[in-house]
Amino acid sequence: MIDVVIAGGGPCGLTLAIELGRRGVRVLLVDPKPGTAFNPQANATQARTMEHFRRLGFAHEIRAQGLPADHPTDIAYFTRFARHELARLRLPTAAEAVRDIRARTGSWAVAELPHRVAQKFVEQTLLRHAQALPSNTIRHGWLLDDFVDRGDHVEAAVRPAAGGAPETVRSRFLVGADGARSFVRHRLGIAWEGETGVRRDFMGGRMLAVYLRAPTLGATMPHPRAWMHVTVNAERRTFMCAVDGRDEFAFHAALGDAEAGREWSADDARRVFAQAVGVELPIEVLSLGTWLAGHSLVARRFRAGNVFLAGDAAHLFTPTGGLGYNTAVEDAINLAWKLAAVVAGTGAEPLLASYEAERQPLAERNTAHARRFADSIGRFRASPALERDDDDGRAARAAASAYLLEHAKREFDIPGITLGGRYDGSPIVVADGIAPPPDEANRYVPSAVPGGRPPHAWLDDGRSLFDSFHREWTLLALGRTPPSTAPFENAAARLGVDLGVVRHADVALAALYEAPLALIRPDQIVAWRGGSSDDAGAVLARASGHAASRG
Ligand SMILES: Cc1cc2nc3c(=O)[nH]c(=O)nc-3n(C[C@H](O)[C@H](O)[C@H](O)COP(=O)(O)OP(=O)(O)OC[C@H]3O[C@@H](n4cnc5c(N)ncnc54)[C@H](O)[C@@H]3O)c2cc1C
Repeated sequence: MIDVVIAGGGPCGLTLAIELGRRGVRVLLVDPKPGTAFNPQANATQARTMEHFRRLGFAHEIRAQGLPADHPTDIAYFTRFARHELARLRLPTAAEAVRDIRARTGSWAVAELPHRVAQKFVEQTLLRHAQALPSNTIRHGWLLDDFVDRGDHVEAAVRPAAGGAPETVRSRFLVGADGARSFVRHRLGIAWEGETGVRRDFMGGRMLAVYLRAPTLGATMPHPRAWMHVTVNAERRTFMCAVDGRDEFAFHAALGDAEAGREWSADDARRVFAQAVGVELPIEVLSLGTWLAGHSLVARRFRAGNVFLAGDAAHLFTPTGGLGYNTAVEDAINLAWKLAAVVAGTGAEPLLASYEAERQPLAERNTAHARRFADSIGRFRASPALERDDDDGRAARAAASAYLLEHAKREFDIPGITLGGRYDGSPIVVADGIAPPPDEANRYVPSAVPGGRPPHAWLDDGRSLFDSFHREWTLLALGRTPPSTAPFENAAARLGVDLGVVRHADVALAALYEAPLALIRPDQIVAWRGGSSDDAGAVLARASGHAASRG
């Protein structure tokens, strides 16, 4: 018997396998692809995702991937890549992100800064870690063909993607992390809610995606290197991410109505790329496809009985803001410890119900942010004057520069979105009646109000506060004379909850948390904080999903 079958080995399914496997949960993951993604796909790993990768022990491996450590990670806007540069938002290189992290305060008081890296590289690291866990079985070249929820277990049919007889697998749970066209979601009859088919000049409609090698692009562009390159002209809107910092790029171009339905060849890709550069260049097309921008969709339910939806199977973004993959990883992190607790017999139904209660509002919040960014950049009108070499042209470029720089700050400097996601109202969060800071995209105010990310600090010994956390549940006892933690320890022993008490005498930490005690969940969310352990039994029972919410 398997504990959890995971359909889909993208970032969501692989993260889930790591989180479950490190807890000894028996996992079967199937994915019809022969291995991890060939195409670059997502381009940004946000700070919160990097903090989770740090907790899992491999943030440094992810940060070593993708662009070389000294490669700029700027976002730059051009009329065409070889013509006028319109605006540039500078962001730290991977080397600077590590070197300067301790000096960061305010919104960016974090354990890890974002990292600009293609998803294809992240997946390779995730797969390696998932495969290293003995209770995980990862089967590429296999797909989920069917399933039935029998109430106390799920019966799944998996079969080789190349054809062949299905095998029946019995498991306690099934997770559909099977992407945007999710078979699991369709089979459950769960519909999308939200907006789709939105039309914009850019990031709304069919897009051409070309993964390409352009060895002479660097020498052709009269501008410093960047990570994200965006063209703004009246002929064709595009964006392009540097993949390896040498000659590989992920290039995406908006297609016109007349072009959207046709087949695309490598020669077409060369022609469209030449439009973006402003001159023809030799390129090698590594892959080619089209995709649709303009979705902000969230599944009506994230769960039916023993079957869960996570990642793109549960929500679909327009990629502005770089939130789809990061939201997918956080789904896995939220769901994993809950499934593991129920498999181990230390958690119950309230824990399972809390997954949808917590993650669905987050998906609605994040898809709405992505939609606003898509409107901001996609509805900007690129006038033909932008490319003229006269006063009108110069004035148009100056106006565009000002707008695009402000837009870049809105879309790419988003600590509030990535660090400020909260689970207020969750049945397993014990609120303390204090209002959390306002939810703002571009500003994050650290706060230990239960339901959000714990505030971060660097310790005197140089470690991150997060590095001192226990592997599962942490009770932070802060300040010189914190209240007794014994009632929490006793309750944990009674409930079978793996709780570690972590003491920090620094009064500044007690001030940061505005309480001497704070209970941190396995997914690094504040579950409760307070000044005494008097209600320890009830608090821990509720937070760990033993007791139903009492509102
Ligand atoms: C151009 C572009 C740029 C993007 N940029 C960003 C970005 O910068 N940041 C960001 O956060 N997101 C970005 N995204 C979105 C991101 O790529 C996705 O959100 C992410 O891949 C979702 O991960 P997932 O694991 O949920 O799904 P997927 O990565 O789609 O994985 C699903 C897996 O399920 C498998 N599968 C399908 N059917 C079955 C079946 N029946 N049985 C078993 N397995 C099955 C598939 O083979 C696939 O491997 C971008 C997307 C695009 C298109």
